[in-house]
Amino acid sequence: MGRFRNYIVTAVLWMPLAAAANIPASAGDGDASPVTDWNVSVAAAMKGRSGTAVVVERSTGRVLATHNGAHAEHTAALPGSTLKPFVIWALLDLHRLRASDTLVCPHSLAIGGHDFACTHPPLNAPVTAETALAYSCNNFVAHFALRLHDGELAAFLRAHGFSNVTPAVSPDRIRMQALGEAGVLVTPLELARGYARLADTAPDVVKQGLRSAVQYGTAQLAGDCGLSGKTGTAGGRAWFAGFTRDVAVVVVAPGASGGGDAAPIAKEIVAPGGVWVGEQRRGLPPLRAYMTLEEYVADALSGEGGDLRSPEALKAMAVAVRTYAVRFRGRHHSEGFDLCDTTHCQRLRPDAVNARLRQAAHDTAGQFLWHEGAPAYAYYSQDCAGTTEAAGDVWPDQAHSYLISMKDSFCARQGRVGWQFAVSSAALRNALENAGLRAPTRIDDVEVSARTESGRARELVLRGEGGEVRIAATSLRFAIDRSLGWDSLRSTLFDVRREGDQFVFRGYGIGHGVGLCQKGADVMASEGRSYRDILAFYYPGTIVGPSAQDFAWRKINGERAELWTTDPGHDQPLVPIADTALRKAETITGMRARLVPLVRVYPSVTAFRNATAEPGNVAGDERGRVIRLQPDPPAQTVLHEMLHFVLEANTRPDVPGWFREGLVAWLAGDHEVPERMRSLAAHHDRAEMLGWLKTGLPMGL
Ligand SMILES: [Zn+2]
Ligand SMILES: [Zn+2]
Ligand SMILES: [Zn+2]
Repeated sequence: MGRFRNYIVTAVLWMPLAAAANIPASAGDGDASPVTDWNVSVAAAMKGRSGTAVVVERSTGRVLATHNGAHAEHTAALPGSTLKPFVIWALLDLHRLRASDTLVCPHSLAIGGHDFACTHPPLNAPVTAETALAYSCNNFVAHFALRLHDGELAAFLRAHGFSNVTPAVSPDRIRMQALGEAGVLVTPLELARGYARLADTAPDVVKQGLRSAVQYGTAQLAGDCGLSGKTGTAGGRAWFAGFTRDVAVVVVAPGASGGGDAAPIAKEIVAPGGVWVGEQRRGLPPLRAYMTLEEYVADALSGEGGDLRSPEALKAMAVAVRTYAVRFRGRHHSEGFDLCDTTHCQRLRPDAVNARLRQAAHDTAGQFLWHEGAPAYAYYSQDCAGTTEAAGDVWPDQAHSYLISMKDSFCARQGRVGWQFAVSSAALRNALENAGLRAPTRIDDVEVSARTESGRARELVLRGEGGEVRIAATSLRFAIDRSLGWDSLRSTLFDVRREGDQFVFRGYGIGHGVGLCQKGADVMASEGRSYRDILAFYYPGTIVGPSAQDFAWRKINGERAELWTTDPGHDQPLVPIADTALRKAETITGMRARLVPLVRVYPSVTAFRNATAEPGNVAGDERGRVIRLQPDPPAQTVLHEMLHFVLEANTRPDVPGWFREGLVAWLAGDHEVPERMRSLAAHHDRAEMLGWLKTGLPMGL
């Protein structure tokens, strides 16, 4: 697939994927959420991976979420090319470089006997500051870095929050430092805060370079999700550092390619709920990319439904391919991705995506087909020839109540289109043998021996030299199509006769016939039916909506807090409770909340658990601006979470969890305050302990 055919994916190391989850990330949480829950996004993207991730707020540098937080804060390593934007920035600031300066990149580069040749493809134009960042051109950066005086770069980096920098005092050392290969070690948190600062204060050309890197340069696998950023690789670590409108993100993964190994993880963090798609390559590890669900839907519509004429039929297909993706997400888990890009899963044709297909994806964004609280098995085929097939007759383990055989009067109205396929006895035997199926040594006769309820062939008998063999019609079709071309036996709705030396199959329809019939869907749409009508017809008993529970979140504005509820009538009394709790939390702490807290009350404990991943005995939790609560929370719980909300903005990231939690329990006057906290409170006063949130705990605690 096109988006993989990219020079940046130079090496793909295997990393275990998150366990296959069949529920879309939005399930149980509605899609009305106005705020990203960074802890949830980071945990989901990093699940099962070794590596480090950190998300900080752009405006304050405050940590919003980490994975391997101790590493994020304390493990300093060579930053490689993620340092380049700061070098360009320093050169521009010191007037040693103008945005218009260029260099013809000679590609090869050796410094002190080490090879630092550029890895970008040959460029047909001189490199500028912008394209140097986009393509990560070592030559450009090393060349202009020589205009810096001894120690100047180190001073600039220190001034921008990098503490572990050694002044470079020779041309070689300056160039190595500029490439992030010597004389500078950064922690992921330092780098994230550096990028947060850069996003706000660096010259435009630097920011444009980082935008270009995701648009056409080394960081393309972090593209189309609002990220700008830079990749890097050094010391066996793959880096991505970048920013969105609101946050800066750094991902460090084991690997040899920042573009291939770290950039797509950053994309998953800022655009959660998508799928990892892999392209299998003979004898090579698969290429993998993370795609948002809507990117995937547009590509799959292009591969699987590009012939549909009506917008409503395309929308129905968009819901089907989206649902299929989450239902079968993880089926290639052992290969390190979720779905392949062929008809085995769903065929992707990114090169043929057009505005019409994108529109259909957009118009149905976030909608799935549900059955009994789970995404449906949304099979579809091109032309059922008037009768759909029961899934259980094709795949015995897929018998579902909404995938039954039924008359499709819509496609039947257009008339059945017949097809014919002839194959010699020898070619038929070869095809079966190639597929590992048993067959007579010479086939004299082929007969349909059993049919499904829809009239499709279920089983065939092959007779000839060496006896009689029975074979499932779907196996025969697969064997013939694989050997002789995918359009040979178009369906199993056929008759077969011997004519001379050949067996002639005459049939109707295209595809297995299960689920949505694309031809019929087009007819329905042309007669004015909506995509919901189409889905209801082909998948009877299913529901279309954003999540299993189909929560419709409503907002009630309080004086200080916003309450999000699915049942405003029931939860209305919580609004003054939340307002009071916030005021009380401010009084107790002497701090003032700068943001409006969003208090989300779930309609059931199960819904709360699904959405938060907290055990049922946790009454609520607080993530950034969002406070999430179980149904009917006591005022004490609301106060507890409000205290977290007020304090969190005023707390250093290295203050340990036990102290944050204990202090809040003690301040709230909770029934249960940990013993360790009780004894602290016996020896220190409130103001002193609140001060520790900002200064860190005193030594020895
Ligand atoms: Zn170059
Ligand atoms: Zn597949
Ligand atoms: Zn049909």
